[in-house]
Amino acid sequence: MRGKITLEEHVSTEEHNRLWDSALEAARNGAEYMADAERRLLDSAVRLEEMDAFGIETMILSLTSPGAQGISDARLAVDFARRTNDLITEKFVAPHKGRFCAFATVALQNPAAAAGELERAVKDLGMKGALINGYTNIGDNEAVRYLDEPPVWEFWDRAAKLNVPVYLHPREPLLSQRRIYDGYASLVGSAWGFGQETAVHAVRLMLSGLFDRYPNLTVILGHLGEGLPFLLPRLESRLQMQRSGVGLGRAKKKVSEYFSRNFYVTTSGHFHTRPMLNAIAELGADRVLFSVDYPYERMEAAATWFDNSPISENDRAKIGRENARQLLRLP
Ligand code: MN
Repeated sequence: MRGKITLEEHVSTEEHNRLWDSALEAARNGAEYMADAERRLLDSAVRLEEMDAFGIETMILSLTSPGAQGISDARLAVDFARRTNDLITEKFVAPHKGRFCAFATVALQNPAAAAGELERAVKDLGMKGALINGYTNIGDNEAVRYLDEPPVWEFWDRAAKLNVPVYLHPREPLLSQRRIYDGYASLVGSAWGFGQETAVHAVRLMLSGLFDRYPNLTVILGHLGEGLPFLLPRLESRLQMQRSGVGLGRAKKKVSEYFSRNFYVTTSGHFHTRPMLNAIAELGADRVLFSVDYPYERMEAAATWFDNSPISENDRAKIGRENARQLLRLP
């Protein structure tokens, strides 16, 4: 399929590379894999060649994880977000109009500043929303803020007013919450921990009442919904058996109603037909979006799988392009 649009495609900056040591990732995935990924994160030429080869017209770019979320110093995080958005615009988006757009980096260490930066990124830089890498550090490594927590609602208020989506991207679980992975460090990151952490984070958003307050908010999840299309029906039936006052949250509706009204899922890094069919069954073909997760995944693998997957051509056009075009108001 030609003309595909993809939404979870990462870049980096020299500053981000200085702030984050990739030694752990290199140990896990091999030095060669990480060196190749780091080269590709800074590149646009090879990226564009591959996009042409595999029928991807437009990529929505975002800063790779952990981005601004991992910077404990709030002032530094706020400045970093602004610099990053300017840099991504100058280096990638402006020289390649129509091929690259971007999701903004925002620093929830200061929700008012994050709201302001989202507005600047959307109105002045033409960005399409924000991508947030899970929880935000607000002090030492263990002091963090999740996106459903009250200080962050000031940011959500602005996202709702601007009517732009927020991509909830994974991050590794907190250091103090990894006992279950002891002896199996391979599971902490993208293989498993990413999905577990992000699925619970998304459920927190659903239970918090956020989508009752802002019914038009849209959250995008990668990796075919981080397991939620499969898991939510059981979550919902078990929650219905529980009594109020035990931490059910303040939400007025069932989790499945928020999932199908306020969420989209992408195929990033999950190029498997049966889970995609399950996501289509739970959410509808209007809420599934093709994506790669470049450069951690390959465009060739993603496109070859998607272009040949056993779905109708109508659904392929929606998932490959039309849903994203409508959601992001692309020409
Ligand atoms: Mn990713």
